Amino acid sequence: MTKKLIIIGAGIAGLSTGCYARMNGYEAVIFELHNKPGGVCTSWHRKEFTFDYCIHNLAGTGNVGVKQVWQDLNALKADEIINHDTFVRVEDSKGNALNIYTDLEKLEKHLKELAPEDSKLIEDYLKAGSSLRGADFFSMNMGGLGDKLKIAPRAYTMIKWGGTTLEEYAGKFQNEFLQKAFPHIQYNINGSDMPMFPHLLFLAGFKAGDLGWPKYGSLEFSKRIEKHFLELGGEIHYRTPVEKIMVEDDRAVGVILADGSMDQADVVISAADGHSTIYEMLEGKYTNKFIDSYYDSYEEEQAFGLQIYLGLDRDLSEESHALVLLLDEPLKLELRERDSLYLELFDSSTGLAPEGKSVIKVVTEGNYGYWKELRSDMEKYSHEKEQIYLKVLEVLDARFPGIKKQVETFDVTTPVTVERFTHNFHGWQPWPAKEGGMKIMFRGFTKTLPGLKNFYMVGQWAGAMIGISNAALTGRNLIKELCKKDGKKFQQNKS
Ligand SMILES: Cc1cc2nc3c(=O)[nH]c(=O)nc-3n(C[C@H](O)[C@H](O)[C@H](O)COP(=O)(O)OP(=O)(O)OC[C@H]3O[C@@H](n4cnc5c(N)ncnc54)[C@H](O)[C@@H]3O)c2cc1C
Repeated sequence: MTKKLIIIGAGIAGLSTGCYARMNGYEAVIFELHNKPGGVCTSWHRKEFTFDYCIHNLAGTGNVGVKQVWQDLNALKADEIINHDTFVRVEDSKGNALNIYTDLEKLEKHLKELAPEDSKLIEDYLKAGSSLRGADFFSMNMGGLGDKLKIAPRAYTMIKWGGTTLEEYAGKFQNEFLQKAFPHIQYNINGSDMPMFPHLLFLAGFKAGDLGWPKYGSLEFSKRIEKHFLELGGEIHYRTPVEKIMVEDDRAVGVILADGSMDQADVVISAADGHSTIYEMLEGKYTNKFIDSYYDSYEEEQAFGLQIYLGLDRDLSEESHALVLLLDEPLKLELRERDSLYLELFDSSTGLAPEGKSVIKVVTEGNYGYWKELRSDMEKYSHEKEQIYLKVLEVLDARFPGIKKQVETFDVTTPVTVERFTHNFHGWQPWPAKEGGMKIMFRGFTKTLPGLKNFYMVGQWAGAMIGISNAALTGRNLIKELCKKDGKKFQQNKS
């Protein structure tokens, strides 16, 4: 008899789980609270523009292990992958600029021209990045022992560079501009929090021709996977939030939907937010101290939490696609001052803007409590969003003179926006565990819950690990595991 799987959530993890389930002969039904697929991997339209919330860089666009997953899910078109020449350009107002080119030879030449006095440190940095190329870290969770073993020879690099932050490394440079600019190169995430190692993985990815960007952006990418799921015979119900997971004798047996109706299944899989799965859908009955302490250890502020979008009647195709502006005067947004702004620029070749026009997305940290309180008064909340936009516009006007008159539309997203559309805890992505990080890295976090049978979690909360390819892999790996339990040969790439 065909087993029925209920999957909660149509983010990348839920869709991937559904596709692999169908490829392997399981009945797959997805319930999604929103009216579209993708979860946080999303975009939306304003006038003629598309505002893209998610993808900066996607693992698996190049010839690396995880590419297989996107092939299985029919998620990418080879001729629609954009590989940027520059990962990011960091500028100050005096005309100094640091370009992190994706061609590492070009990057070395540029860095040495910029700071010949720091040649040795530059070489060490680039050598470390290049040395990680063959390890293919983003494919580490493909599942095979071989993939994990490829990492072993890089353990020394991992330990050495994992213990140094971007800010600490920058502090070793003699060149003053490099000292100032270098901590901002990884999406402008606070350089004192950002270890060098993940950044080096990006260099390794670029060296392997990976980490590109799918034309038309995040929602179109998600929709391609949704289409594949439906073609494989999957069933998906939008605007259908799951309220409770039904449990009998400590076995998950189905779900109760928001309208009170029930649906039964042989296996229930949550690809939804971890906190609401554990503490609301399952009422906190299947947890332990380790899980509780993780969810108690969140911080109020998170990178990418506040985003400001502008649709512009201006061609920005001559600009770098990602820019960090180092500010002369601190800019106060929400509760605190910022010394820089991170921008992504999308011209018409990205498919997000019409010919001759562009989108700018400004990404900075957001504070959940600040916005949550404001949202109890919608007028105040909307007013504050507009004030933030105006302050940012003022900064942009200094860099792009005349921009004020070219804005055709704008939008601002806060952590509360994300909470509302995805039910993700505080609108957040998983944060690094304060304790037990290694255990989580090797075994995952809540792939199952203590004492509960016939229930699994996939996606970012199952492994307390972010990344689109990781989310997809958790779904693939679970179906592989279920196949093994059911004595079936795991099938992939079956359309
Ligand atoms: C701003 C931002 C930028 C990012 N950039 C990148 C990047 O450049 N590259 C990269 O690899 N990764 C990036 N990530 C990370 C990556 O997008 C995520 O890790 C990944 O998409 C998570 O997918 P998921 O399916 O696990 O979760 P989600 O996308 O959160 O999906 C969960 C789904 O469950 C649904 N749901 C929740 N509760 C219920 C319920 N009760 N009933 C029914 N449905 C429910 C939600 O609506 C949602 O659709 C970024 C993330 C963010 C936030």
